[in-house]
Amino acid sequence: MASPFSPDSTGGMDQEMGKLHKVAGVRLPDKPPSTLWDVSISEGRISSLDAHDPDRAGPESSPGILDGANRLLAPSLCHAHIHLDKCFLLQDPKFSDLQIEKGDFQEAMEMTGKAKARFEEDDLLRRGRQLIEESIYHGVTAMRAFVEVDGGVQFKCLDAGLKLKDEFEDRCEVQICAFAQLPLFSGEDGGEEVRKLMTAAAQEEAVDALGSTPYVERDENKSKMNARWISSLALTAGKHLDLHLDYFVEEHKQPLIWDTLNIIKDRNWLERGGKQITLGHCTRLTRFRDWEWDQLRQRVGELPVSYVGLPTSDLFMMRTDENVRGTLPVVKMIKQHDLQAAIAVNNVGNAFTPQGNCDPLGIATLGVGLYQAGTKKDAELLYATVSSRAKGAIGCESTSLSLEVGEPADFVLFDRMDSGWRCRKSIAEVVYDAGPSRQTIRRGRVTAL
Ligand SMILES: [Zn+2]
Repeated sequence: MASPFSPDSTGGMDQEMGKLHKVAGVRLPDKPPSTLWDVSISEGRISSLDAHDPDRAGPESSPGILDGANRLLAPSLCHAHIHLDKCFLLQDPKFSDLQIEKGDFQEAMEMTGKAKARFEEDDLLRRGRQLIEESIYHGVTAMRAFVEVDGGVQFKCLDAGLKLKDEFEDRCEVQICAFAQLPLFSGEDGGEEVRKLMTAAAQEEAVDALGSTPYVERDENKSKMNARWISSLALTAGKHLDLHLDYFVEEHKQPLIWDTLNIIKDRNWLERGGKQITLGHCTRLTRFRDWEWDQLRQRVGELPVSYVGLPTSDLFMMRTDENVRGTLPVVKMIKQHDLQAAIAVNNVGNAFTPQGNCDPLGIATLGVGLYQAGTKKDAELLYATVSSRAKGAIGCESTSLSLEVGEPADFVLFDRMDSGWRCRKSIAEVVYDAGPSRQTIRRGRVTAL
């Protein structure tokens, strides 16, 4: 029997059949829970919000009308940061000999290196397809997917990523980030091959973003060269920039964020029409005092910079010898320091993050405790960090909690009508405990039942 995640459980759905012009009788995040609404859709966008009249509703099964059945309808979810090529390595039978023995960063690098040497198109597609399919099932309509480019894998991961982007075009916006996980200026050949491959990847029109990891370089000077080189390439190629930065928590090690912002400004990013800049990991910033956060806000200025915190990975990986832990304080960054920030899953089923699944909302749920953010307003903010703020962080058009006319009809419906009083009626309830029953709609089409 097909599982709800089996790749063809919805893949074969007739796209015309899934096309909606109305979702009738739903609760909306910004409205009193006792009132029901009809959301009309035209050309994949919200065309009106009207009070639901049960007497006038007519046959709920008519084509193009989805019976909302009192469920909560909210903006869809987004992965602002997810590694497509190294997902499910702990589950895929092909890599069953590679299991965690120690659970540290070094082992994760080594295990992933061994797995990468065996990557082939068929397992890249199988695992990547599973990740996208499960994500859609959880309510995801957009993601930034990292695929590594280096001398070992060459373009295998990138090509598989581009195939999947194409395959899911109607159901999910899969942004592909060609990503240099290995050094661009250190190593045996001084990073020459990776730079050559990344330069070629940047020419691909379907590649949306370019990224690198300055912290893997041998010294500070090379880390700066890394940031300078990749930001120039992104600017010239007209791609988004995604840097995985300052992935450590030791206070004595200096963060690269200040130099990175200077490098980007020196490029005249704004004047030259540079696209979105996304900074992931950044755990060293957890050591910042308030004055450093204020300084960071000033230095960012008008630059389109967003930060993405990856708390499940950080909880598993990030600690000093004295057991100091750290993950970006995303709620505080938004509320107190007026920075753009989101949270994301990062890895699924590998040695960097063995725990967790493809549900971005699970990270928001974790955030309630992690950031001690329990009020209704905090819960709504946490929801936004895996929804509208996550989309904004990767340069995607987003749908707000107030569901304005003209915004994309990208939704997720929670719960079922038979849930009784337990039925989730508000964003706070789904952030506290999302529940498993969801239905996903992208641009007015049902993408997951
Ligand atoms: Zn990552």
